[in-house]
Amino acid sequence: MATLHRPQTILEAGRLLADLDDAQVYAGGTAIQILRRQGLLFTESFVDLTGVPGLAELEWRTDGLLAGAMVSTRRMETDPRVRAELPLVATAYGKVANPRVRNTATIGGNIAHGDHRLDPPTALLVHDATLHTASRDGARSLRVREFFTGFQETALHEAEIVTGLWVPHAPTGAVSAYVKLTSLGENDWPSASVACQLVRTAGGATDITLGIAALAPTPLLVQLTTRAEGDAAAVEAAQLAAESFDPIGDVRGTPAYKRKLGSVAVRDAVRAAWREWSHA
Ligand SMILES: Cc1cc2nc3c(=O)[nH]c(=O)nc-3n(C[C@H](O)[C@H](O)[C@H](O)COP(=O)(O)OP(=O)(O)OC[C@H]3O[C@@H](n4cnc5c(N)ncnc54)[C@H](O)[C@@H]3O)c2cc1C
Repeated sequence: MATLHRPQTILEAGRLLADLDDAQVYAGGTAIQILRRQGLLFTESFVDLTGVPGLAELEWRTDGLLAGAMVSTRRMETDPRVRAELPLVATAYGKVANPRVRNTATIGGNIAHGDHRLDPPTALLVHDATLHTASRDGARSLRVREFFTGFQETALHEAEIVTGLWVPHAPTGAVSAYVKLTSLGENDWPSASVACQLVRTAGGATDITLGIAALAPTPLLVQLTTRAEGDAAAVEAAQLAAESFDPIGDVRGTPAYKRKLGSVAVRDAVRAAWREWSHA
């Protein structure tokens, strides 16, 4: 039978994870419960972070947001200040599954899950967010851009805990859009998700930054600077992004289908962000 350990400090949590045999962090439990039910997770020792103070808080600084790992994905979606100051991030968290899952799933559990189809990391890649972690050996920081190392693999060490997420503001004048395309139903995992940010350069060109999920074994970051405008810029971005696509065929579609969907999602996201400029 599974045992849930409830440490009161991050140090205690780190020690438990290091000392117990094959222990895992338990956050919202939404992924863990499904994996257990599917017979894919055999861990019997879980370290529940709910009792560790300070992990469920949002702390604003002049240049961005420090969000604790136990903040729920629903809070990131609905918090008025996150929506106002980090709209792309709020939108991406609002794309996770359905409200029931989002109420329970945490932002630390989301990224630590390490799945290539996760929606929020797309926006975190665009913002060049940083993860803060702790373990028995100490604390460290690592960029989300360096976090996903392979299919279901991350740069998280054994017995290391995600404690928070630093998300800097977008550059002044940036506009953004999010496109999620699903094959089986609106609240399903994406077959293609794209977070897009556009920034005008001093020389009159446009920096396009894309975070892309479900189109390769890891989330993708694609960046380009173009003098093309509107639809032409969208087509250019889609062509460049497609060079990195390496989708995995499954019940949601063949690799060829997902490649096509990916190009459509990138084009739609760039077009939608461009329209934000005309509304600004
Ligand atoms: C029906 C369903 C549909 C879904 N659809 C989507 C979707 O469309 N888009 C999307 O992005 N996601 C989707 N998800 C995945 C969802 O985002 C994750 O289940 C959720 O974010 C995990 O968060 P959690 O807090 O529940 O993590 P848990 O289930 O508690 O943990 C998940 C993993 O992360 C580890 N972990 C948790 N917290 C930490 C931490 N602080 N430090 C280190 N390791 C930690 C755990 O040990 C475990 O390995 C879906 C999930 C379900 C159940």
